[in-house]
Amino acid sequence: MTAVPSPASIDAVARSSGRPNRVQGDDRWVLAVDVGCQRLSAGLVSASGQMVVRDRVTTPTRGVWSALERLVRRVVAARSAEHDRIGWCGVTCEGPIEEPAGRVSPLSMPALQGFELRQRISELTDIDAVLETRGNGRAMAERWFGGHDPDDADHMIVVIASESVDGGVIVDGQVVHGRTGNAGNLAHVLVELDDGLACLCGGSGCLMPYVSTRALEAEINRPLRRAPASIRERTGVMLGRAIATAASSFDSRLALIGGATVAGLGPELTEVVARETAQRAKLSHLQDLRVDTVALGPEGPLLGAAVSALSRARR
Ligand SMILES: [Zn+2]
Repeated sequence: MTAVPSPASIDAVARSSGRPNRVQGDDRWVLAVDVGCQRLSAGLVSASGQMVVRDRVTTPTRGVWSALERLVRRVVAARSAEHDRIGWCGVTCEGPIEEPAGRVSPLSMPALQGFELRQRISELTDIDAVLETRGNGRAMAERWFGGHDPDDADHMIVVIASESVDGGVIVDGQVVHGRTGNAGNLAHVLVELDDGLACLCGGSGCLMPYVSTRALEAEINRPLRRAPASIRERTGVMLGRAIATAASSFDSRLALIGGATVAGLGPELTEVVARETAQRAKLSHLQDLRVDTVALGPEGPLLGAAVSALSRARR
């Protein structure tokens, strides 16, 4: 359990974003919960992004709900008298999710297929929880707290390539949800039509097997930081193909990439992605399209869960 000092920079970004925040000044806290195939995280976050308590555990192969239940109880119990008013609960989970039913079936977590995550968290906390994909949460967190130029961040694609591949799309300042809450993730955009690599979804040629840390390390049989240049080049090309495809459809101005794969392959990867994106995005409305890395670090997933709840609260 760690008590986190007030991140003054995040408060400053929220204030300077130029967007009215109707929950700003509310002294209630958000219980933020993030469910990933590697880690389960929970924390208490203020309406301005200040995180006072956070805790996490390695995601077990079995008994995921029991581990998550214990984690959430610990975080709630650890709050001080000063932070005892919890007003909202936001939950993000690796997709696919199924809204409005509140179920999740994360691709890399067999133990949670068809699990009624939103209802179980709501019952546990006695708060109506909001459920989003991790990718949509991350996109909203970058939009609110990333410090990006609002003219760019209002028209933005976010791709997080780690063990799983998540992402979200912001159009006209709003995250795109779609019919079941899964819109915006580029993980299963087709990037290779001839002899494409097999994907966990059952298809082949999707972006995911070309950029997932787990898939890449299995393919090269060594840690990603020791990947050959050819793998870095291929990863960047595939990300560029997916981003150019999505940007032309969503009229995007900024594409952010992040996650363990991006960190492991270094800044040269971003250069390859930017080059490939520019080569493929030739339309006049894409001339200002820019590729960069995400601004938020390890706090990103929990901020994403918190913003998921706060963005509904201010409607
Ligand atoms: Zn796929």
